[in-house]
Amino acid sequence: MKLLLLDDDPVRRLQWQERAACQDYDDELFFERDNELRVVRARREQAAKQICAACPVRVECLRFAESGPEVFGVWGGTTQRERAIRRRRRRRAAAVTRP
Ligand code: SF4
Repeated sequence: MKLLLLDDDPVRRLQWQERAACQDYDDELFFERDNELRVVRARREQAAKQICAACPVRVECLRFAESGPEVFGVWGGTTQRERAIRRRRRRRAAAVTRP
């Protein structure tokens, strides 16, 4: 998988992405295809998440995926839908704690 290199700082960029466990895997394992059947998507995402589970930079990857606009695909062991749920929960929690 080729990660998006959005950070212009080469040091910060290399710090975690070069240790990514997905580097030698096909992008198609991490990103949804057009008209992908739900069962196929579930199997593919599960396989991607297994790679993420053993990744030494999983935390950094998830932080990156959640740090800006929504990104597609499996990042940091989460799917796009799971991250959307996490975002909604954070927003709700922030709304509850606001005076
Ligand atoms: S957590 Fe998953 S998507 Fe992120 S770098 Fe590691 S293997 Fe790749």
